[in-house]
Amino acid sequence: MSAKYIFVTGGVVSSLGKGLAAASIGCLLESRGLKVNIMKFDPYLNVDPGTMSPFQHGEVFVTDDGAETDLDLGHYERFTHAKLSRDNNWTTGRLYEQIIAKERRGDYLGKTVQVIPHVTNEIKAAMKKVAQDVDVALIEIGGTVGDIESLPFMEAIRQMRQEQGRDHTLFVHVTLVPFIAAAQELKTKPTQHSVKELLSIGIQPDILLCRTDRFLSKEIKNKIALFCNVAEEAVITAKDVASVYEVPLVFATENVDTLVLKSLRMEAKDRDLSKWEDIVHRVYNPKGEVTIAIVGKYVEYEDSYKSLKEALVHGSLAHNLKLHLNWVEAEGLEAGQQACAEQLAEYDGILVPGGFGKRGIEGMLQAIRYARENHVPYFGICLGMQTACIEFARDVCGLEGANSSEFDPATPHRVIYKLRELRGVEELGGTMRLGAWTCKIEPDTLAHRIYGETEISERHRHRYEFNREYEETLTAAGLRISGSSPDGTYVEMVEIPDHPHFIGCQFHPEFKSKPLEPHPLFKTFVGAAYAYGQKRRTDKESTKIEMFHRPEKMGQR
Ligand code: GLN
Repeated sequence: MSAKYIFVTGGVVSSLGKGLAAASIGCLLESRGLKVNIMKFDPYLNVDPGTMSPFQHGEVFVTDDGAETDLDLGHYERFTHAKLSRDNNWTTGRLYEQIIAKERRGDYLGKTVQVIPHVTNEIKAAMKKVAQDVDVALIEIGGTVGDIESLPFMEAIRQMRQEQGRDHTLFVHVTLVPFIAAAQELKTKPTQHSVKELLSIGIQPDILLCRTDRFLSKEIKNKIALFCNVAEEAVITAKDVASVYEVPLVFATENVDTLVLKSLRMEAKDRDLSKWEDIVHRVYNPKGEVTIAIVGKYVEYEDSYKSLKEALVHGSLAHNLKLHLNWVEAEGLEAGQQACAEQLAEYDGILVPGGFGKRGIEGMLQAIRYARENHVPYFGICLGMQTACIEFARDVCGLEGANSSEFDPATPHRVIYKLRELRGVEELGGTMRLGAWTCKIEPDTLAHRIYGETEISERHRHRYEFNREYEETLTAAGLRISGSSPDGTYVEMVEIPDHPHFIGCQFHPEFKSKPLEPHPLFKTFVGAAYAYGQKRRTDKESTKIEMFHRPEKMGQR
């Protein structure tokens, strides 16, 4: 049986949540027992987002096979069971790189190499590859209709309709229906224009997902249907929601899945979204609150840590808690422990996330010292584990000037260094350790209690690693290495047993956390933070009561 294709395009403006829409349709189809795969084409010329600024592009999402991909792939994994790899994210740059390599090899037998058919053929081949062994392949086209860069992709999906037929292809267009306050009216014109643009390149959308802040009335839907040449039932209200995990439920209320199945002439079992309903119920009915500080740089731009934020949400939902997340600019903590006490005292947990470059490092070290000395739950991820080791080396072991050679190449104590460079990996062109690697967990450690397993697999994205020459000094002083690569080369996890919750990992567990399967490291961290917060508040209360009673007591004396 050949797979059906759903193409998701966007119009009017960017950031309408095409990725979430594609992921949510995938989720709905899975809830009806179908097997899906999802991919994204990014029309920009970069080969991958690996070298792009997180300010510009947001998080680089890493797959098991070590591909550095667009953050929408994170949504795909969180909402579906699709197994994503480098096949699931293509940029124009990567496509052209492949085409030019073929041309140089003479694969085109002297023909003129052109956008149509050579580029479009490559695009179609990439789509067909992810459609093997699934019922439905969802294909998201990045950018907005009308962009010059996205034209070859639009042309490719137009050809797919011709080639695969009406019953095997579906065009979903995500558009905007803004409410104009001055007129007190929802406006359909931007959607009309966007669909016209699509029509001009030969694509008639089948379903319109209209992003809006209020429900579209029957009249509005009717108007859009008439002008855009789609069925009224195919004009969907994609209303803003408080939690992204509500989107599949909103789509279900609008019967998007039924519509998709009908258009693609598919049979499927009834939908079961009970687990997602439970998640959304938790979102709206928390039993308590937890406040976490993420200390890093890029903090003003949330998208640079998309998966991290979601993983903390998952960890909180697992305990039925509402998460308050604050991004604390590391540079602001450089002044020392006093600055930390002022800025971090109200947090239940402190997290230092992954990152690159020197800026803010000294502030992160201060935050870690504060967490370690004051017994505040700490979770360090990648850079957050490396800085935890540096802090321990400096402040506990007295190794003055200890650092990572990334931040201070002349440091007297390279606690973190490029191990692989010394092993000649650099010459082979592999500068980053990427993707899933096995880690052995030591028994009787916090890591072991958290995972409940002795062997795990997590995703990596780093260049530097822990220097085992310092293992003896650091462990003698109370640091515990609780996870290592199976051959012992890489230190993967560290912890401080003499602390309620102090753990660091060289990998990025946030990439594997899902709302329905919260990652144990996040679940435990949030749990510890909540317990600490409760205790902190009780202690504060009893101090207050004590202070209140003291004069009386003194008077009695
Ligand atoms: N900059 C550090 C390294 O390259 C940490 C990387 C990260 O946190 N992702 O090893």
